[in-house]
Amino acid sequence: MVKAVVGACWGDEGKGKITDMLAADADIVVRFQGGANAGHTIVNEYGKFALHLLPSGSFNANVTNLIGNGVALDIPQLVSEIADVTAKGVPTPNIAVSERSQVLMPYHRLFDTYEEERLSSRQFGSTKSGIAPFFSDKFSKIGFQVWELFEEDRLKEKIENVLEVKNLILEHVYHKPLLDAGELYDTCKQYAEMVRPYVVDSTKLIHDAIKSGKTILLEGQLGSLKDPDFGIYPMTTSSSTLAGYGAIGAGIPPYEIKEIITVVKAYSSAVGAGAFVSELFGSEAEELRRRGGDGGEYGATTGRPRRVGWFDCVASRYGCRVQGTTAVAFTVLDVLGYLDEIPVCVGYEIDGEITRDFPTTGRLERAKPVLKTLPGWKQDIRGIKSYDQLPENCRKYIEFIEKELEVPITIVSNGPAREDIILK
Ligand code: GDP
Repeated sequence: MVKAVVGACWGDEGKGKITDMLAADADIVVRFQGGANAGHTIVNEYGKFALHLLPSGSFNANVTNLIGNGVALDIPQLVSEIADVTAKGVPTPNIAVSERSQVLMPYHRLFDTYEEERLSSRQFGSTKSGIAPFFSDKFSKIGFQVWELFEEDRLKEKIENVLEVKNLILEHVYHKPLLDAGELYDTCKQYAEMVRPYVVDSTKLIHDAIKSGKTILLEGQLGSLKDPDFGIYPMTTSSSTLAGYGAIGAGIPPYEIKEIITVVKAYSSAVGAGAFVSELFGSEAEELRRRGGDGGEYGATTGRPRRVGWFDCVASRYGCRVQGTTAVAFTVLDVLGYLDEIPVCVGYEIDGEITRDFPTTGRLERAKPVLKTLPGWKQDIRGIKSYDQLPENCRKYIEFIEKELEVPITIVSNGPAREDIILK
């Protein structure tokens, strides 16, 4: 049985929490795309953690946590995250790294930084974790799969070949110091030793797990609107954020992905630049940001203040649709308890016309939100364990959004902790 936990919007929907919760019944949790450029926040009996690369099953001793071939593998980051969780008393997690995943090189971060510098005011607002240069290299076929770290002669030769072109760009485009092949080779040898204990044939691992009826959880990073094909291109990430990509990034037959649990947050938030139709500004935004998430809406990896806004039905319905959602986990609902009335965005006005369909980026940037106001519930709903006990207006808010999303909401999250969950 394969389930995916993915995001409907810009990320930060609370996927980490939902994955951590579902990991209790999973045998394998797989990261299948992205890299260490975003974080999942998890609060459990060991404390509060911001995971960037480690799968969210890492707190569960019975779970194998696989870094799939679709991930940008930052080896020092992986090792430091493992050290960090164990230092806080978590039993050593069971980690596996696909031998086909590719290695994020130190120069990927450099190129990310230099390119943003070159773009200056036109920059993408990259986290500078090297993700865009990494995926460019992967598809230009000058990336390094993990197994290559262990084949010394060809590694040496390939490093020389790759640095030839990298150094031309460093010299003539960015006017920066050149890279040294010997130094990079030594770094790669260190990487090889760091990753060696975890390397597996993930195709076989997954195949055997499916054959023996194990439960596999695919853990997505970011959300639909950051997908390079279906998101707000080019203000997207560089690898697909969709559950369907789990088939590729984890090596799973597409028809085995039976459940797609899309995490949708009760209001909107986004990190980085790009169109955000229902965005709030000024004191309204300040208040939602301060009360939002668990201790405020600030990025788990970057600490950057997140942009916040009202719930966007147009974006979220589209986000669920492109994921192929079978059920929605509706999160961070407790935060809205302070509002007398809660506006939600039910349509976009673009060039004088109102639409419910999510447009391409140019039209999206011209869209103005059409708002509908729902009554608030003015109550702290943390601690409530059953759907019936939620205040009536809170249930009405959930049911309104469920209708707009056109997929059932089956999980409601009313607090950051593992037990703050209501099954509907
Ligand atoms: P992810 O990347 O999708 O896992 O999301 P992040 O971890 O970046 O952001 C979600 C934030 O919301 C974290 O600080 C979580 O601890 C917090 N969170 C998750 N679910 C809830 C919830 O139901 N209520 C509240 N108040 N916070 C939540």
